[in-house]
Amino acid sequence: MKIKNIFKRRLFRLDLQSRLAIGFLVATCLTGVFATLVSTWTINRNTIAEVQNRVRQDINTAKLIYNNKIEQIQSVIQFTAEISDLQDLIIRHDEYGLGYMWGQIRKSVKPSSGNDHAILDMLTLVDVSGRVLYRAANPQVMGDSLLHDSLVKKCMEMKKPIASTELMSLREIVRENPVLAPRTKIDIVKTPLAAEIDKERITEGMVMKAAYPVIDRNTNYLVGVLVGGVLINNDNEIVDRVKETVYHGEKYKGREMGVATIFQGGVRISTNVMTKDNKRAIGTILSKEVYERVIVEEKDWAGRAFVVDDWYITTYTPIFNIDKKIIGVLYTGILEAKYRDIKWEMIWIIIGITVYGMLIAFIISLRLGNNIIERIKILKRGTEAIASGNLDYKLSPDKVSGFNMLDEAFNDMARSLKEHNDQLQKMHRHLARTEKLTAMGEMAAGVAHEINNPLGGILLYSSLVLEDLPQDSPMRDNIQKIIYQTNRCKEIVQGLLDFSRTPAGDMVPLQVNQIINTSLNLVKDQAMFHGIEIKSSFEENLPEIMGDRSRLEEVFLNLFINAADAMNGKGKLTIATQMGKNDCVRILVSDTGKGVDKEFLPHIFEPFFTTKDPGRGTGLGLSIVYGIIKRHKGTIEAESEQGRGTTFVINLPVRKNNNSLAQNEDVCQ
Ligand code: ADP
Repeated sequence: MKIKNIFKRRLFRLDLQSRLAIGFLVATCLTGVFATLVSTWTINRNTIAEVQNRVRQDINTAKLIYNNKIEQIQSVIQFTAEISDLQDLIIRHDEYGLGYMWGQIRKSVKPSSGNDHAILDMLTLVDVSGRVLYRAANPQVMGDSLLHDSLVKKCMEMKKPIASTELMSLREIVRENPVLAPRTKIDIVKTPLAAEIDKERITEGMVMKAAYPVIDRNTNYLVGVLVGGVLINNDNEIVDRVKETVYHGEKYKGREMGVATIFQGGVRISTNVMTKDNKRAIGTILSKEVYERVIVEEKDWAGRAFVVDDWYITTYTPIFNIDKKIIGVLYTGILEAKYRDIKWEMIWIIIGITVYGMLIAFIISLRLGNNIIERIKILKRGTEAIASGNLDYKLSPDKVSGFNMLDEAFNDMARSLKEHNDQLQKMHRHLARTEKLTAMGEMAAGVAHEINNPLGGILLYSSLVLEDLPQDSPMRDNIQKIIYQTNRCKEIVQGLLDFSRTPAGDMVPLQVNQIINTSLNLVKDQAMFHGIEIKSSFEENLPEIMGDRSRLEEVFLNLFINAADAMNGKGKLTIATQMGKNDCVRILVSDTGKGVDKEFLPHIFEPFFTTKDPGRGTGLGLSIVYGIIKRHKGTIEAESEQGRGTTFVINLPVRKNNNSLAQNEDVCQ
């Protein structure tokens, strides 16, 4: 647990790149190890299991060959018994006549030399009491009893031919045929892995035997038994035939691929398994495991087994005598080395391919990881730029690395952030200006109210004084100036009241286009408009608005006169109307005049703001316009570029069904 935590902490302290590399490495390694294990397991299962299956079939072939040999012995003995009138010879004791039996006996240990058709190592005729009448391979010895021979005994009892593999003592074997003496001498070779047998040499021999009953044809009585057989010890005919039939003598690295053996007890008496010095491993012993299983438990064995000096894939099957007692073992096996080599070769190929694949996967993933990290760094730079206020920062979309989705999303985010920011700033400016103008309006209204009454007084009393003055009074002139200036003051105060939204006349449904036309008609013939081209583009069928006709006319008059002023009598005045957003009619008044200085633009709607010479402008025109538009719940904005002209954009809410004016001042924003 502790180690795991330490490992985790270490891992997470590494930078992303190393973590990615380690992650990829672990993933590819795990995949590689898993792939290798699975393929090794599959190869093991398929290859070795296949071979084991094959060996299991091979033992059946070996059994067939073994039994075939016994049958062959049986038929030779039957043939011998039937071709010569044996019962006659027995009855007549015609020893000379029995001599031809000699022809069935092999003259030498090797079957190919001498008499080719002779296959028997021993052939003996006994009478009905079991006494030996004639021993074909040792005619001098006769008269002894063979009743102790279970095959002879069984044959007499059953009066039927029988055959099996039997053990005979060495003395008996040599008595049957003295030539066999050398073949019976087998020294037991003890090896560390072999089963323990505490004998130095073999004391018995294994013989494939057949017994044939001789019956008197007239009386149908048994008159004797003809018994014979072949000594297996040191006779490799059967095992070599198995090897040739089953394995076709195939070799691997100079060694026999397939081998067969006949064991007597646990000792090899006939085999083509070779020792290191290339001799048949006669006398060597079964391994402990197999001995236990086959000889002790009398069961078949299939599987890997260590045979003499190498591993074989093997099958062992017990050999029983006529009394069903186990006397030996038949074995076939395939050298495992070839399949082991094939298996390892395949495993190495798979490991090679896997390692190669892992390497490629690792390199690719490393490069990919680098790409990802590189792009993350680019993104990080982008976010840092955005965070520091550079909202115009753009990522160039990367088509190759597949990050364009992220890049586009980032750019979209930056764009919308910028839009929001712009909007926020605009709102902020607007709010600040509105607040300022509202405050100014309140102040102006207060001042105007206060001044209006005294002005009224001044005007009243100066008019009374004027009336009382004689026509030729030199004072009249001064009093008239007082009245004139007081009137001007009143006008200014009225302007202030207009700006500060003092209540106005009736609000009635109006057509904007019509009002603009009226205003235009008022000014276009004035001298200052003579050099000005007036262009109007009105959208027809605009919905009506609710408004005070004369106040709105004042708005447009102010705007047109300001425009003419700015153009200094020469230029183009464009008036356009259209349907704007949020159910508002939009009016644009543009000129090609000198424009408004950038630093003045936020102030032009303030009362008394003017750039004109004293006496020429009061700075009240636009503030009155602003006040009137506000009273109509509309908005007015100015856009200007110095030297290029100015555009005033007015939005006025359209009339509602009940002719009420919108409550909300922001409807047209
Ligand atoms: P006044 O015309 O008496 O100066 P206004 O309130 O009408 O007062 O205008 C304020 C200022 O706004 C003007 O002095 C001028 O600098 C600027 N202005 C208004 N309209 C325009 C325009 N169409 N072109 C350029 N400047 C303008």
